[in-house]
Amino acid sequence: MKYIDEYRDGRLARTLAASITQEARPEGSYRFMEFCGGHTHAISRFGIADLLPANVRMIHGPGCPVCVLPVGRIDMAISLAQRPEVTLCTYGDLMRVPGSRGTTLLKAKAAGADIRMVYSTLDAIRIAEAEPLREVVFFAIGFETTTPPTALAVRVAATKKLKNFSVFCNHVLTPSAIQSILESPDVRALGRVRIDGFIGPSHVSTIIGTQPYDFFAEEFGKPVVVTGFEPLDVMQAILMLVRQVNESRHEVENQYVRAVTRDGNLTAKTEVAEVFELRKAFEWRGLGIVPYSGLQLKAAYAAFDAERRFDLEDMPGYDNPACECGAILRGVKTPTECKLFGTLCTPDTPMGSCMVSSEGACAAHWTYGRFRDHARIAS
Ligand code: SF4
Repeated sequence: MKYIDEYRDGRLARTLAASITQEARPEGSYRFMEFCGGHTHAISRFGIADLLPANVRMIHGPGCPVCVLPVGRIDMAISLAQRPEVTLCTYGDLMRVPGSRGTTLLKAKAAGADIRMVYSTLDAIRIAEAEPLREVVFFAIGFETTTPPTALAVRVAATKKLKNFSVFCNHVLTPSAIQSILESPDVRALGRVRIDGFIGPSHVSTIIGTQPYDFFAEEFGKPVVVTGFEPLDVMQAILMLVRQVNESRHEVENQYVRAVTRDGNLTAKTEVAEVFELRKAFEWRGLGIVPYSGLQLKAAYAAFDAERRFDLEDMPGYDNPACECGAILRGVKTPTECKLFGTLCTPDTPMGSCMVSSEGACAAHWTYGRFRDHARIAS
């Protein structure tokens, strides 16, 4: 296939759906987690769940970088931006993520903080070069996909000997999060969430490759199928997972061969390894403290580490107690099980992070799924 609409061919989607229905054993049930928010978005947008038989269910995972950032880190970014000497640069989707007591970067900006939306890490470098009297801090978040550009920016800043550029690093790692889910009480002890296999992320896997998922297949006996973001990709991955379960296999398979290799992008991985090292622990919204799940700048690049430069201390953060983002990110609840969904919390008035990013489960369900809810109720 060459063109994007070929990956959205309705006739082929129905053929795949028929194969899933035929091959899913009627006496069994299949519960697969899509880790990545991009897949959550695709599943909602293209109505994939509606094409599946009742005994094949998808569970949303925590793979939305904005959603998993804990409130305390937003609070730290806001307090940093409120320093008179600081210009905080950030990607747009972070602007409206609620911090404690309803604060956001957008509100802080309206109140006078110098917060600027950028499209790349190198935009922040350009601002630092153009305004040498400002302390320019890049608010870095995201999984393995967005880490290489941050590493590149740090190396560029070092090469240019920039004295007024630093990074507030919040980069996190996919494999650690999957392990945390599989070891969580919800999955293991309490059995509230059953996961029979994973749809592995697309963009992240272009960087890290398929090899890091071997661990989950071997140690936890869970099949993983790395797949693309188009609806036919996702449908095919679900069929591959159903087949693995039927055949009692737990292997890592790569549906996304057009972009993902076993070893990933060696150039990007080398760049990241040069600049970053593992943190001992990092807090995730929904998952809590996950050991060795985040990155920090190496000592050699300490001058570009905003946490050291500004002596930042962890802030506890105050989450809206009615928000169910944490449970949704663990796969324990669905968006409609939150009593704020669609009432107090909408994309225009987000009360939690899952309603902010289009990759968040609540935003995806609000945009695409609620119409199907109404149709189901009406029929
Ligand atoms: S609907 Fe809003 S408040 Fe409820 S879980 Fe989702 S983001 Fe949080």
